[in-house]
Amino acid sequence: MADPRRVPTVGGNWKMHGTRAHAGELLHALRAALDGIGEVEVVICPPSPWLTDAADALAEGSLQVGAQNVHWEPEGAFTGEQSAAMLAGTVSHVLVGHSERRHVFGETDEQTRDKLRSVIEAGLTPILAVGELQEERESGATDAVLRRQLFGALEGLDGLPASAVIAYEPVWAIGTGLAATPEMAQEAAATVRALLTERFDETTAAGLRIQYGGSVNAENASELASQPDIDGALVGGASLKADEFASICGAFAHAHHLARA
Ligand code: PEP
Repeated sequence: MADPRRVPTVGGNWKMHGTRAHAGELLHALRAALDGIGEVEVVICPPSPWLTDAADALAEGSLQVGAQNVHWEPEGAFTGEQSAAMLAGTVSHVLVGHSERRHVFGETDEQTRDKLRSVIEAGLTPILAVGELQEERESGATDAVLRRQLFGALEGLDGLPASAVIAYEPVWAIGTGLAATPEMAQEAAATVRALLTERFDETTAAGLRIQYGGSVNAENASELASQPDIDGALVGGASLKADEFASICGAFAHAHHLARA
């Protein structure tokens, strides 16, 4: 059971899916199902063209909006990019270091670091994703990868905003239907927390939320939510279905309720 002082946080990463009409319907359904749920923070990350639609559809409610990507410079000749300052009026959260950015678009640990810093400087909440490839897990390199990615991203930072989120997302579990077992996810989340203690201090590490991401669905969410170091989920595919995403959020809210009792 997770520390009751940490309110779980569930992110819905829509990636590059859907149409504007579908996005509108999904936002409407998510608001109807989840607005005011309590005991869990919910962050919806639609594709960039619909961020303002999302902000409008979810305005004055409890659901928050996150961007899937950001450039590290405040402005400049960077065709196709968006800065944290530009996002700041519309979103509260920004995903940084997602494995698709790292492995499909070749983003480096240094770029992830610069993005993280720009998000924090803009007063936004980062969701920093870290996680190992299948072959890295098989060769026993998981802890070393988590250390390299986490410490690389945190280089030069004195701290993180209290609202910041770290997402442990094993690459082999993303979009594959092969979620990590709750035990594996817990073990890696505990490693991330130990690394945060080493990098900052125990109080800071104990206060930060660590999500698990990788094929989370309505069936596996409850067991993941009952793990002591898992404080939420980053959800891809299942976040495109309002009912399933609402069940996942409900599982984490329920776990937090039990932890507080
Ligand atoms: C993700 O996009 O971060 C993710 C975890 O995707 P999925 O839930 O589809 O595995």
